[in-house]
Formats: sequence, C-alpha cells, structure tokens
Amino acid sequence: MRDLSVAVAVMICLAGAVGCNGQKETVKTEKPERKNYHKYLDAPYVPDSQRGGKPGSGAKVAPRSPNAIPIALEDDLTKVRLRRRWKYIVVHHSGTDKGSAGSFNNAHKQRGWLGVGYHFVIGNGTLSKEGEIETTFRWNEQIQGAHAGVEEYNEHGIGICLVGDFNAGVPSPAQIKSLIGLTNYLQRRCGIPITQVLGHRDVKQTDCPGQLFPWAEFKRALQQENAWRSS
Ligand SMILES: [Zn+2]
Repeated sequence: MRDLSVAVAVMICLAGAVGCNGQKETVKTEKPERKNYHKYLDAPYVPDSQRGGKPGSGAKVAPRSPNAIPIALEDDLTKVRLRRRWKYIVVHHSGTDKGSAGSFNNAHKQRGWLGVGYHFVIGNGTLSKEGEIETTFRWNEQIQGAHAGVEEYNEHGIGICLVGDFNAGVPSPAQIKSLIGLTNYLQRRCGIPITQVLGHRDVKQTDCPGQLFPWAEFKRALQQENAWRSS
C-alpha cells in the first residue's frame, strides 16, 4: 500500500498562470490510510464496454455515447483505485489563452507547490490538443486538489480545468464534449449526483469558470447524458 504520509496540498486555487483565485498552497501531512477505508468508496460502476452485459456473454452491448471519453482513457482511469471520498466535481477555466497540465505543473512547481492543483485539464489546442483530457498526478495518486480555495472542496472535489479565458471567449465544442464525457464518467465512478457538479464560483467568490462559460447548456447536456447512460 502506498505510503500516504506524503505531504499534500491543502488549499487554494492556482493563481496567475492558471487564473483562479488564491495565492498560496499550504502543505500538510495526510493521515495514514485506514484499513478497510475503501469499503464505501467505489460506487457501482459498469464500464461502457460492458454496458448491457460483458462482451462475449451473449447480452447486447449498448452503444457508446458520442460524448464518451476514449476507451483507452476510460480504462486508464478505471485502473486507479479510489482512495478518497469524492463528493463534488468543480469546473474551472485557466483564465489564460494557452496551457496544458504540463505547463501548469511547471509553473506551480516553480513556486514551490507540489504541482498542478487540478485532477484533470482539458486542452484548447495550444499546448495540448483541443479537447484532449490530461490526467494529473492528483487523480492518479488520489491526492486532494489545490483548486477550490475551500478545504471541503479541495478534500472531496475533483478539479477539472478547461484551458482558456471564458471571460473573453467560450470553450470550444470539443472541450465541452470532453467535459461532458469526463464529468459523466466521474459521476458514475464516484457516485456524484448532478447537483454536486459545480462551477468554482459556486464554492468561492470568483468568476471562474468565466462569465461566458455556457453553464446552463452544459448542465442540460450533462443531464441528458446522465439520463441516456441510465436508460
Ligand atoms: Zn477556478
């Protein structure tokens, strides 16, 4: 079992290069993982490839949603064992024109932080592909985020950042499609209801993910995706 006594980031969204509020990252030691801690974590989850029955079982396998994340990514994410009680998904914009998980990671390491504060970054075609979903160490190692600026939402919120400044423009259709697919996956995997899919501004005084972010349309599309998946 991995030693969870590593220092982890507690607080605060990323400033400057990533655009969200907050200026500092407090570091604390995480409590050692308790025995049987996993028992209540994994919600019932059926990979897309097995919807309607395991391949080869003779059962009809349901078609994948057009918004579904790539199968290879889904497989990678599903290999990560949940080690944290994820209760929220918090959506951010970077507030910058350019970026990727790597560039944010470098920028924040240079400030003495552990690295990029988000669990996922969705590219805009500048330093990663448009709509590309990058998974950061915080998801792979199941470390709390440093994105929300509020402890509850860092501890229990999965941070997704779309590269771009959505006070100045809107996310591309490819970014929204990836956001819908990823959010839906994480909801199913972690048992997170749509009411707990939040914008950063819902948990802290900030305009993140930007005044032009099409929040109502996103939530409507996500609702449809959730309904489609459970049908
Ligand atoms: Zn934010």
